[in-house]
Amino acid sequence: MNPSLQGIGMTSQRTRDRMVNRLIEQGIRSNKVLDVMRSTPRHIFVDEALASRAYEDNPLPIGYNQTISQPYIVARMTELLLKAGHLSKVLEIGTGCGYQTAILAQLVDHVYSVERILPLQKKAKNNLWELKIKNVSYLHNDGGWGWPEYAPFDGILVSAAPPEIPETLLQQMTMGGVMVIPTGESGRQALQRVIRSEKGYEVEELDAVSFVPFLSGRE
Ligand code: SAH
Repeated sequence: MNPSLQGIGMTSQRTRDRMVNRLIEQGIRSNKVLDVMRSTPRHIFVDEALASRAYEDNPLPIGYNQTISQPYIVARMTELLLKAGHLSKVLEIGTGCGYQTAILAQLVDHVYSVERILPLQKKAKNNLWELKIKNVSYLHNDGGWGWPEYAPFDGILVSAAPPEIPETLLQQMTMGGVMVIPTGESGRQALQRVIRSEKGYEVEELDAVSFVPFLSGRE
């Protein structure tokens, strides 16, 4: 790895190893998820001034009133999504700076990632280019529409919270498909996992979480 990707001091491999040990203590069990989080440099996804804090278990600002999700949430959502086994096509809503995208892209065949704020999408593209991650397609749009041209998806991961699970996204799931999505108003959100079967949609309510709101339209 080139030196700026590898990191030094607070952005070094030792710091990433410590973050992964914390994730294990917090209950993350998937070795696949832990391995990609150990090897992916999170500090390149935040402003240089915040790089030394990139491995703390906190969300950090990425501009435009948005935040990069904390490492535990990224790990937890990825683990929940992968429980059903190998995924070939995953729709991600809320590309942001692209960190969650980078983790997913190393674990599934292809990621289709939608972001409503154009400058964030550009940041994410640059970050993933730097890491040579190429199995990602990007769309600048309101993710409430999903991505009909490539639907259905066997996985959907949403990283902003709508009041309820959008019907359009449910329709873009394959039979057997999985969706992980936070829902609810600020202050009282919960992570939901939806599994689609012949019988319908099975919804499990999981952890209490805190996400930025799912907004409509594009900027
Ligand atoms: N996974 C990202 C999280 C960024 S925060 C990261 O780790 O960086 C959530 C993101 O969802 C923001 O970038 C926000 O602009 C985006 N977002 C919110 N509502 C959206 C919508 N309806 N469609 C697409 N993106 C949306």
